[in-house]
Amino acid sequence: MQSLSNKKKVVSNKEMTFGEKIYLPAVIGGMGITLKHLFRKNNTLKYPEQQKLFAPVYRGQHVLKRDEKGRENCTACGLCAVACPAEAITMTAAERKKGEEHLYREEKYAEMYEINMLRCIFCGLCEEACPKEAIFLTDRIVPSNFEREPFVYGKDILVEPVDHRIDITKRQHTGKRTEK
Ligand code: SF4
Ligand code: SF4
Repeated sequence: MQSLSNKKKVVSNKEMTFGEKIYLPAVIGGMGITLKHLFRKNNTLKYPEQQKLFAPVYRGQHVLKRDEKGRENCTACGLCAVACPAEAITMTAAERKKGEEHLYREEKYAEMYEINMLRCIFCGLCEEACPKEAIFLTDRIVPSNFEREPFVYGKDILVEPVDHRIDITKRQHTGKRTEK
């Protein structure tokens, strides 16, 4: 019967020759291939000393942005969580109190905001869904860990520090983004 790919190989049951039985030609052939690769250009990098350049569309660890006055942009509307196909985002909303106007831009803010990085598939749908330009993916790699718990990132990791803003201007978005 003809296979779909037409790549079917007929298996031969013929007796092995003496040369094949001692495997020596095959071993020498294998060593030849190894030797050949010794003099070829190396494709691997000595990470972390050497780092590969990422494509501008690379999507890595998220950031929750602040506005120019340092206030959190997120209004805990939940649209990112609804858009997330991996159900990786959870949050609790709270109402901004008097005197907290310098902390939160909107009247409602995320008291708790978590992303489970083990669930996340870095699709970027959360940043596309956000109406407040609050969540963005960045070119940062999520660090590895032996435990599962540290992969649940809270606001302490996600919200950018006031004095150390995360620059997202070089990353290429699919949507129209204007803010830094
Ligand atoms: S990047 Fe995709 S999977 Fe990850 S949190 Fe955002 S929407 Fe969910
Ligand atoms: S990050 Fe954006 S979409 Fe998600 S809850 Fe905050 S404002 Fe809404």
